[in-house]
Amino acid sequence: MPELPEVEVTRRSLAGAIQGARVTGLRLGKPLRWPLGADPEALLGARVGEVQRRGKYLWLPLEDRGGLLMHLGMSGSLAFLGATPAAGPHDHFDLHTDRGLLRLTDPRRFGAVVWGAALEVSPVAGLLAGLGLEPFDERFDGAHLHARLRGRRVAIKQALLAGDIVVGAGNIYACEALFMAGIDPRLPAGRLSRPRADRLAVAVRAVLGQALAAGGTTLRDFRDAHGVAGSFQMQAQVYGREGQPCRRCGAAVRRIVQGARSTFFCPACQKR
Ligand code: ZN
Repeated sequence: MPELPEVEVTRRSLAGAIQGARVTGLRLGKPLRWPLGADPEALLGARVGEVQRRGKYLWLPLEDRGGLLMHLGMSGSLAFLGATPAAGPHDHFDLHTDRGLLRLTDPRRFGAVVWGAALEVSPVAGLLAGLGLEPFDERFDGAHLHARLRGRRVAIKQALLAGDIVVGAGNIYACEALFMAGIDPRLPAGRLSRPRADRLAVAVRAVLGQALAAGGTTLRDFRDAHGVAGSFQMQAQVYGREGQPCRRCGAAVRRIVQGARSTFFCPACQKR
């Protein structure tokens, strides 16, 4: 599933090419997670502004015509194409511009493109409400993490995944950050000490920074807007490595299931 680094990689690969382009057409395929909520005709002629990201959402401003909030769901990817190939069975949104075609391909259709008048206005504001801090926001640190975890009985891994404290620590990155910080993923969140919260905040940022530098993670089908795959999966320390030796201590990496998601960790390096 595309996580924050993959969405940011998509944004970076797209923003410069599409900024300033004029919308010349819009095609909807099969229904996505939410309806567009606008008449496509009303968006023709609008000029695309600077693409922004919040959590796993991209916001494509359309000058004086509001903007489009895009989410890649479980399996979506955005491509910016110079040519306009015929839509395939999984291509469910096309934004034609005078600079090229922005196409959302999404086999499982959990992704969405939603029109909104502005980021601060419903329905967009409602979709973004409840998101935690951005990981590279200077307000995200050990003190913030420690304060927000206080009293929570849920396992630390699930507290990270929830995304209401900090966004971006999806399944792979939560596993990797907990390994880097030496924290057992089953530790009750409220029992994380302040020094360990400091280490975890640093680790979350470091892992996401590495993932961005690697162009994201491609487990199955993630590609940036020019079709380039990510390579972070090659440097994962624990994720997807059940039974293989820990790269730090040699103990066998374990896999458990938490909240229906696989968690990978080293039982020797990561402490309760
Ligand atoms: Zn280890």
